[in-house]
Amino acid sequence: MTKKNIAVIGAGIVGLSTAYYLQSSLNKVTLYDQYDPGSGTSRGHASVIANYGIPALNQNDVWKNLIKYLFYKNSPLSIKFSYLHKSLPWLIHFLRNCNSISMNFTAEQTANLLKKALPTYQNLLNEIQANDLIVNRGVLYVWINEKEKPTKNQIKIREKNNIEQIYLSKSEILDLEPYLNPNIKGGWYFPKAHHTLNPDKILSKIFIKFKEKNGQFIKEKISHISFINQKFHINSQTYDEVVICCGAFSNTLVKQLEGKSIPLETERGYHLEFQDMQRFLSRPICLVDSGMYLTPLDNCIRAAGTVELAGNSNEINYSRINYIDRGSKRLISELKNYQKTWLGFRPTLPDCLPIIGKSPNHNNLYYAFGHNHLGWTLGPVTGKMITKLINKEESDNQAYKIDRFL
Ligand SMILES: Cc1cc2nc3c(=O)[nH]c(=O)nc-3n(C[C@H](O)[C@H](O)[C@H](O)COP(=O)(O)OP(=O)(O)OC[C@H]3O[C@@H](n4cnc5c(N)ncnc54)[C@H](O)[C@@H]3O)c2cc1C
Repeated sequence: MTKKNIAVIGAGIVGLSTAYYLQSSLNKVTLYDQYDPGSGTSRGHASVIANYGIPALNQNDVWKNLIKYLFYKNSPLSIKFSYLHKSLPWLIHFLRNCNSISMNFTAEQTANLLKKALPTYQNLLNEIQANDLIVNRGVLYVWINEKEKPTKNQIKIREKNNIEQIYLSKSEILDLEPYLNPNIKGGWYFPKAHHTLNPDKILSKIFIKFKEKNGQFIKEKISHISFINQKFHINSQTYDEVVICCGAFSNTLVKQLEGKSIPLETERGYHLEFQDMQRFLSRPICLVDSGMYLTPLDNCIRAAGTVELAGNSNEINYSRINYIDRGSKRLISELKNYQKTWLGFRPTLPDCLPIIGKSPNHNNLYYAFGHNHLGWTLGPVTGKMITKLINKEESDNQAYKIDRFL
């Protein structure tokens, strides 16, 4: 196989995995990021390998809750009023996908990726000597308010796509997690779900292995890529192939390379960390009422979640932080003072499917972004898929291609 000179732009979990696999298959890879590798959204999530993660947000009952999302402060989804006009084109497109057909299509296509997520992760962690950073204790969805429990439709879609899920009564939940609020009414258990104990260490180990295999990293924001004589040029470097993995910030380069923007929105999410509190929890718990997770990491309980449509500025909305703090204490009353807060940007397309595949306009340009709530789960699978595409071992799947928005 000819050794190719490849640039990967963006060093989150998607870009790092892509760069690692491409370099491992004997290409010559240069990874670019404006910041240190793995220092963006890919470090602060709920740390769940969510191989049960369907349906996505585009469900047919979203309409019913729209007013609540727009105007209620106590809602897991919030839209900043002054940002509403900017998010409107995406919102309209998203709402058009909130019907049974689209919901089922997104679920099926996502399930196809989720099937491969765990074995791919386990192999990757093996290769980078990080198997001790992933554990299998399942994930619990619990609710306190009966009205908020998962709908029949959600349960049916998971069943249809072979996701293992077990209903647990309140007492069965409290046997598993004795510190949880005794007012919990019930829950669903996903026994095959895993979680990672330290995303920073995993990201850093992927990067170290990439460098050990002679991968190159350049810390630089890429604002322009030129295309001359069938090759790409970034500053003074020439590349045979380019992969864009810039998460929620991918649109600038898409517009420059395709001549058109796509409807990529960012679902902002937050986390708080309760240091040295991990003894109060054995596995990630999602409080469905609040749209948030508590996850036991190796040195803390991390409370992560909520969805905020407010653009990609770094401004923290403390009412969201307070909302997560209240939800954490509602689940485990021992959680007193959080020590750290963090804001991240989930990259989301209106059909809630990622973009993974080749550009329609350039044979040697690839995109890998838009993994919304599942990017930590799907990063390694995506890296593998892009590597197989570039190495011509597999062909594109239409469902994930950028063409659907161009
Ligand atoms: C609160 C919260 C909880 C979550 N929980 C989970 C979970 O439990 N499980 C799960 O699977 N997913 C979860 N997610 C989603 C997951 O975190 C994201 O989908 C994933 O991190 C996206 O990864 P990425 O590599 O695409 O993007 P990023 O991690 O954002 O990486 C993109 C990189 O590109 C760089 N970049 C951007 N533009 C340029 C440029 N022009 N030049 C150079 N570099 C550039 C950025 O600096 C960044 O480092 C959660 C997200 C949030 C916010």
